[in-house]
Amino acid sequence: MSRIVVIEDESAIAELIAINLRHAGHQVTLAASAEQAQREIGAQLPDLVLLDWMLPGQSGLALARQWRADPRTRGLPIIMLTARSQEADKIAGLDVGADDYLTKPFSTQELMARIRAVLRRRAPQALDDAVEVGVLRLDPSTRRVSGGECELKLGPTEFRLLHYLMTHPERVHSRAQLLDRVWGDHVFIEERTVDMHVKRLRECLSPGQCAGMIETVRGAGYRLTQQVRSLAA
Ligand code: CA
Repeated sequence: MSRIVVIEDESAIAELIAINLRHAGHQVTLAASAEQAQREIGAQLPDLVLLDWMLPGQSGLALARQWRADPRTRGLPIIMLTARSQEADKIAGLDVGADDYLTKPFSTQELMARIRAVLRRRAPQALDDAVEVGVLRLDPSTRRVSGGECELKLGPTEFRLLHYLMTHPERVHSRAQLLDRVWGDHVFIEERTVDMHVKRLRECLSPGQCAGMIETVRGAGYRLTQQVRSLAA
């Protein structure tokens, strides 16, 4: 399930979008102005924002530009919505770093398809798609994890941690990044909590012979890999 903030001042449109998104299983928060949007994003980073161009006060374009300049919100997936259809506006929207652009009126199917495409590219951990890395398989919709033929039992935190690592394999994640992405930003937990959950995750994976896929990268963090490394090295 993904958290989406819909920033749109026309309440009829906002409500319609919200109904469709909720129906598709997303968690939706509405914001009718730039100020309200800033408060929502400030309180908790969502997985994606739908951002209307024309808002009372600050424009959606200015908001997008501001978010792209802030390290905390730099990676926030943004789809811009607008009644404008001029090519120049579209370019301006993409220039400030919007991930996609939708011109009103748009169909619900098109909106859903664009949201899925942006999430798949930018925040795959927010989707319910089953993921496979090597012999490991994780299915968010059934909450099942297996290593080869072996069904693995994971606690909720270990499940989220593994889901994040599997949707971003072969990359090194620092403890701070994992806290942000898996536990949520604004959550004040010590970094050694990550070490504790990684240790538990390895224990959960060991019946499937997959514990070695979670590597400790000294001085950097953790990585999920399917590269088999020689233990003798
Ligand atoms: Ca508007």
